Amino acid sequence: AKKAVLGPLVGAVDQGTSSTRFLVFNSKTAELLSHHQVEIKQEFPREGWVEQDPKEILQSVYECIEKTCEKLGQLNIDISNIKAIGVSNQRETTVVWDKVTGEPLYNAVVWLDLRTQSTVENLSKRIPGNNNFVKSKTGLPLSTYFSAVKLRWLLDNVKKVQEAVEENRALFGTIDSWLIWSLTGGIHGGVHCTDVTNASRTMLFNIHSLEWDKELCEFFGIPMEILPNVRSSSEIYGLMKAGALEGVPISGCLGDQSAALVGQMCFQDGQAKNTYGTGCFLLCNTGHKCVFSEHGLLTTIAYKLGRDKPVYYALEGSVAIAGAVIRWLRDNLGIIKSSEEIEKLAKEVGTSYGCYFVPAFSGLYAPYWEPSARGIICGLTQFTNKCHIAFAALEAVCFQTREILDAMNRDCGIPLSHLQVDGGMTSNKILMQLQADILYIPVVKPSMPETTALGAAMAAGAAEGVGVWSLEPEDLSAVTMERFEPQINAEESEIRYSTWKKAVMKSIGWVT
Ligand code: ADP
Repeated sequence: AKKAVLGPLVGAVDQGTSSTRFLVFNSKTAELLSHHQVEIKQEFPREGWVEQDPKEILQSVYECIEKTCEKLGQLNIDISNIKAIGVSNQRETTVVWDKVTGEPLYNAVVWLDLRTQSTVENLSKRIPGNNNFVKSKTGLPLSTYFSAVKLRWLLDNVKKVQEAVEENRALFGTIDSWLIWSLTGGIHGGVHCTDVTNASRTMLFNIHSLEWDKELCEFFGIPMEILPNVRSSSEIYGLMKAGALEGVPISGCLGDQSAALVGQMCFQDGQAKNTYGTGCFLLCNTGHKCVFSEHGLLTTIAYKLGRDKPVYYALEGSVAIAGAVIRWLRDNLGIIKSSEEIEKLAKEVGTSYGCYFVPAFSGLYAPYWEPSARGIICGLTQFTNKCHIAFAALEAVCFQTREILDAMNRDCGIPLSHLQVDGGMTSNKILMQLQADILYIPVVKPSMPETTALGAAMAAGAAEGVGVWSLEPEDLSAVTMERFEPQINAEESEIRYSTWKKAVMKSIGWVT
């Protein structure tokens, strides 16, 4: 059969905490042509520890690429039309590997992992100068969340890592670095790099000078020679060395939340999006200004789309547990068999019946930054059943978003008039309606939910030397929007929200 010609296509790897995907888009319309997804195992070897296998992650990327290319073949689409590949990834998750053997020296320590709590406490006692030392350079609070302390832990506790550093064989990277190094050849000349957005999540990167910060590396005791080269989010890093797409340039790289911001076309100062995946992340573009929050938000790099292009910053509200609470109800309590089933349970009751669920499994992130918090389910009565708990879990995601949106509005001064959303959870219509009700503003969702991958594809397609994506709105003609309008009154919404806050207060200080 004759293969249909569509013009240039761009692929994107979306390596998330729950799954890996590879997706192929038409660069003229942003139409999603084909994709493949593989769920990723999470290991919980001890309470508070979260690990993943870097080799399983890499394997899943290859598998998704091969399967997607097969599907394209079945659609009579010639894969030689794929002109570039972008990478977006779960951020902060830390890998150290051996550049001689190509083997990871320990599992990936996932962003949610809490093992570094005492590392953080010890470091916070030795902060040089004023308490703002880390935040003023990185935009981040000193927390278990970011890579520097995870890397410190690996250097302190894993003999193989210590030896490899001494013998000059160790490389550090977030998931993007591990993937790009491996995909561009690994031990046979792989490129060891990261982009500014991922670098800005390590707590070692100076977001003003856009360089690794010597003082921070000294403070955390990190040898600078193991760090990747920091590049822009849109440029050719290297070529695929194997598989169906051998020879295709990898030319886009963005942490998943930055990728979603790009995929939602939030290019103007004041534009924001909220992504509902494992966690929930609200990012607001602040343009070329580095805005520091007074209300518990982070300052981070939004994107830099080209070597000579300017850097854009964002304010970010990070919620650790969103979709993860649904996964927990599935895997730990077994009250649902699939994530989608939560909608059926919640619909049966349409209310939590006064039950509140604060899923502070990993402490609380924004706006509280309370490592002492732990999850609670409260307001239970004889009447409460699993449907109410399911409803309360969905409501928790919405309340947490309300908290970060309130903080964002206070920091920015101009309240958001609507909320642009995306991510795996947004297929849940009850959640979307609840969110509109709790925020009391409309929630707007693109018809094509894979905004993270789209952002990475756009960055890859727009790179110098590739040039198949112009980043103009007409390039997104295949994407339409769905709106959810608030349906309950503001007063009712406020009452529910203030009870939620009471529940949050009970979750704080649970561990000391
Ligand atoms: P990530 O990028 O963090 O891997 P995704 O955007 O793929 O996350 O979203 C997956 C998360 O969304 C999982 O935690 C899953 O439990 C949750 N999820 C998926 N579908 C639904 C649904 N219909 N309702 C509620 N949660 C869902």
